[in-house]
Amino acid sequence: MPRPIEALIHATALAANLARARAAAPDARVWAVVKANAYGHGIERVFEGLRGADGFALLDLAEGERVRSLGWRGPVLLLEGCFEPRDLESCSRLNLWHVVHCAEQIDWLAAHKTHQPHRVFLKMNSGMNRLGFRPAAFRPAWARLNALPQVDEIALMTHFSDADGERGIARQAAAFDAATRDLPGERCLANSAAVLRHGLGNDWVRAGILCYGSAPDFPAHDIHHWGLQPTMTLRSRLIAVQQLQAGDTVGYGSSYTASAPQRIGIVACGYADGYPRHCGTDTPVLVDGVRTGTVGRVSMDMLAVDLTPVPACGIGSEVTLWGRGPGDTLLAIDDVARAGGTIGYELMCALAPRVPVSAID
Ligand SMILES: *Cc1c(COP(=O)(O)O)cnc(C)c1O
Repeated sequence: MPRPIEALIHATALAANLARARAAAPDARVWAVVKANAYGHGIERVFEGLRGADGFALLDLAEGERVRSLGWRGPVLLLEGCFEPRDLESCSRLNLWHVVHCAEQIDWLAAHKTHQPHRVFLKMNSGMNRLGFRPAAFRPAWARLNALPQVDEIALMTHFSDADGERGIARQAAAFDAATRDLPGERCLANSAAVLRHGLGNDWVRAGILCYGSAPDFPAHDIHHWGLQPTMTLRSRLIAVQQLQAGDTVGYGSSYTASAPQRIGIVACGYADGYPRHCGTDTPVLVDGVRTGTVGRVSMDMLAVDLTPVPACGIGSEVTLWGRGPGDTLLAIDDVARAGGTIGYELMCALAPRVPVSAID
């Protein structure tokens, strides 16, 4: 028998989450963001569930190539654009739309030989200070692009730094509007948090994390609040049970000490599977669908869980690290992420290659 850990990808949940994006921004077209190998889920595994999107947004040419080889003929957008001039040849060949965020990318386009003009998304730096032209430089960049025979339609884009938090989107949205007021072209502003929290639509939205069943603004809101469903389950089994006495310790560093007799289970899952080592004692976990907590440090291949609330379980009992458990039970990835001081995004992206993954309904 192989080691009992596995991950499941839920196609119907992906489709249901995408429908939530549509409901929240009914007039917008939706990019399903599948960068980082579909947030760790696997582009090929999410394709069926997300094929109702209007396009796929991603980061590198190899991912664009994979989406095309799945038979997708609709829009594909490179969110960081080209990294060097010859990437434009791949964009021409694969019909990829691409972000233009710096003057060099315009130079490369001006020198590019193509029969088919490119669709581009011109990006404004409205305050995030990662990619894009500052508001004052945006119009000149647009005019330069617009004069190029290599360029077809130009969409206008920006990205919010605080759509999930207290600062919100108003300042950046106002800077964008002021600098683009009389420019033609489709608008593309909202990420998941801007769609759900602020109901922002425009012409295109970029739905990433919401597709994957994690709340963009957790813990302010959780997946139940937003009507999202988990799309990734990480599950394993108990491979040993230990009966502790008061004073016994558990795992490396003896970071946990039993204060009374206690039954614990050892789970075939560790940080080499992508489970965060930062998760300390009391990180939520399901055993046979019953919520309990971890004890002690996570090691490379194993972790320990408190079996007090599940006296009937034993070796072979199912353990849900996140996602769907037996029956109708559920453990949101956001709950686990929080215990590890991180966000659901990081956990799903970090699922380790050694974990076998299958796509189910
Ligand atoms: C990753 C990314 C998104 C998606 O963000 P979510 O918070 O996952 O919805 C949107 N836009 C850009 C530019 C991105 O890089």
